[in-house]
Amino acid sequence: MRLHSLARTTGIERTLVGRIARDLPAANRSDTWLYTHDPDVEDARDYLGIITPKSAVGVDGVPLAQGVQHLDYLADGDVIAVDPSGFVRTLYRRSSPHNFILMTEQCNSYCLMCSQPPKAIDDSNRIAEHFRLVDLIDPQTEELGITGGEPTLFQRNFLRLVDHCETRLPRTSLHVLTNGRMFFYRRYAAELGSIAHHDLVLGIPLYSDVDSEHDYIVQARGAFEETVLGLQNLDRSGVAVEIRVVLHRLSIQRLPQLATFIARNFPWSCHVALMGLEMFGLVHKNLAELWIDPADYQDALSAAVEVLAGAGMHVSIYNHQLCVLEPRLWPLARKSISDWKNVYLKECDGCSVIAQCGGFFQSGTKIHSAHIRAIRAD
Ligand code: SF4
Repeated sequence: MRLHSLARTTGIERTLVGRIARDLPAANRSDTWLYTHDPDVEDARDYLGIITPKSAVGVDGVPLAQGVQHLDYLADGDVIAVDPSGFVRTLYRRSSPHNFILMTEQCNSYCLMCSQPPKAIDDSNRIAEHFRLVDLIDPQTEELGITGGEPTLFQRNFLRLVDHCETRLPRTSLHVLTNGRMFFYRRYAAELGSIAHHDLVLGIPLYSDVDSEHDYIVQARGAFEETVLGLQNLDRSGVAVEIRVVLHRLSIQRLPQLATFIARNFPWSCHVALMGLEMFGLVHKNLAELWIDPADYQDALSAAVEVLAGAGMHVSIYNHQLCVLEPRLWPLARKSISDWKNVYLKECDGCSVIAQCGGFFQSGTKIHSAHIRAIRAD
């Protein structure tokens, strides 16, 4: 599945963010992109715009995006953005549990395995689009993510967006991926806590119990201290945190010790996610340093799980294939890869546990464990 496409546009002078309608509704036309295979509709007045895979003449005064490919999955209530350049982005899919707001592409770290390599750009103007998106999202949505780059680099606007989500989406839980460093400032953590969001969890990575090793992996001196103090400040402010560990050759070295460090210092964290590597972005540049076959770190993984579960912590294993995991770890394995980038290999044909298995990232079909084998039922 693709979340973007290119269109030939007419009458679009600024980015237009709107909900999709596949038929002709009567209401909210000014918020609505009409997605149609028959673009020369008679009554198109007041629509935000018309979007079509076909070529079209268009309707006077109504913005048009024609010739879009790969977006035929768009359904009523989904939300898209169409830029004057013709770039069409799917921002929200009503039927998917994997919706997120890409807050910014800027970051104050430069992790060796970053799957969303940071950009040195000023994209602070995105905030208006994020607020508009939150206004258009179905209030019945169960979960929404906020990610980056580093979302807290938007400082006050990040807090405003969380507050707006609480007001506009009171039944939607919010999961924010952040390196937690900004919460080194106790006041900033307290301000987030004072929003008292009904169901907010911050997912914060920690890669070693040794400061210099963590700082090396995230390529930022002092990051370990800021993250650890950030975690403590968030706990003091009543904000729930999940600790995330991406598993690779460097983070595996001291994984059991890291587990002990987490159990001792952050027993109150609501979840610990031990995550397989996503083969996208900066990982390729650092592959020699990072790659390890998951089958080769099962002992370290099992030992870490034993420590965390032994301390009564809620542990999950993300982005791993069942045929590579020790069977005793299977109950902790989750189908964690977002639907739009989740695939299986030819080797998976006939596998008796494919329904429970998390499979692969679309980007991970070339570089993966050498031990992928279909598991026979007998
Ligand atoms: S063969 Fe495929 S489906 Fe089966 S456990 Fe391995 S990765 Fe999963």
